[in-house]
Amino acid sequence: NQAGAFLIRESESLKGEFSLSVFDGEFVKHYRIRKLDEGGFFLSRRRTFKTLNEFVDYYSKNNDGLCVKLGKPCLKVQIPTTFDLSYKTVDQWEIDRNSLKFLKKLGSGQFGEVWEGLWNNTTPVAIKTLKPGSMDPKDFLREAQIMKNLRHPKLIQLYAVCTLEDPIYIITELMRYGSLLEYLQNDAGSQICLSHQIDMAAQVASGMAYLESQNYIHRDLAARNVLVGEHNIYKVADFGLARVFKVENENIYEAKHETKLPVKWTAPEAIHCNKFSIKSDVWSFGILLFEIITYGKMPYAGMAGHQVIQMLDKGYRLPQPDNCPKPLYDIMLQCWNAEAKGRPTFETLQWQLEDYFEVGDSSYADTRTILK
Ligand code: AMP
Repeated sequence: NQAGAFLIRESESLKGEFSLSVFDGEFVKHYRIRKLDEGGFFLSRRRTFKTLNEFVDYYSKNNDGLCVKLGKPCLKVQIPTTFDLSYKTVDQWEIDRNSLKFLKKLGSGQFGEVWEGLWNNTTPVAIKTLKPGSMDPKDFLREAQIMKNLRHPKLIQLYAVCTLEDPIYIITELMRYGSLLEYLQNDAGSQICLSHQIDMAAQVASGMAYLESQNYIHRDLAARNVLVGEHNIYKVADFGLARVFKVENENIYEAKHETKLPVKWTAPEAIHCNKFSIKSDVWSFGILLFEIITYGKMPYAGMAGHQVIQMLDKGYRLPQPDNCPKPLYDIMLQCWNAEAKGRPTFETLQWQLEDYFEVGDSSYADTRTILK
């Protein structure tokens, strides 16, 4: 897409209204298209149009306050989404481990290794190999039955499993660029800018809003459990697994009532009373926002988990990072409301983030200066 590439789409926040998104060569800017009561459209009341075609025609010839003149309609990148390896794995998803070829080790986590592989010599997959004893196969299979049916473009799709012998394999969709945490740390601000960071957050919120709608809880939402694909696609991974794992990693997961928790990501009520809910996921999402904006810094650096718990109980919250805009920090603070009920829903977080840069008509005059 070249500068001027544009699309007109239904607004995310105002149903039935339209928004215009324009690529200025560096960023995408969003404008709200207003409707006239008598029919017709405008950005600024100074100039109104009977049809959207006339609107596009005019702004293709004059930028008249837009960041650039409209050029060609935005090209859509077709990303195929596969939910199953084949029709056979739709309901029969225990597959023969010999149908998997291990190509390259991608990483090792606390529960085992992750490999890039091929299924049936054709389909690229990620293969998670679980250390023997890291979970009870019965618990895992019960959870995996549910996970298999969770399908959303912003969630890592579980394709199949090999559970008949140790090590257990979990076969999922492959993401080219690995974990968001490493991706952020490697970049450290050289390429990734605020609009990109907000987009990451909005994509994660969209996947989480789906889990929310399915009454499912992630329990371990953090940058280390978000994966990065091609074309700036971000997906939530490892949802529900925290419930079945027997956790051993002492750095992040600390012992508490026999289960171990990623304390710095966990909501107080989940730490104190084991009360996990979609609202404790919202708390973790606030910490994930902190990780995104700080390019993968450790939250509460220098503090031990038990200190963090004490400080949070006294009302302490992570301070606003240097480069973090106030509106984004306000969203974080909402996620860290001591009262779980007072935290936003993921649905709300999704539209707040998707509309973060959207500019309304009332501020249109100012918009020009803001956008410059
Ligand atoms: P985990 O055991 O889930 O913490 O994964 C360890 C590392 O393997 C992650 O940090 C990623 O870099 C990589 N990884 C995990 N799952 C995938 C996947 N589906 N596609 C590509 N890389 C992955």
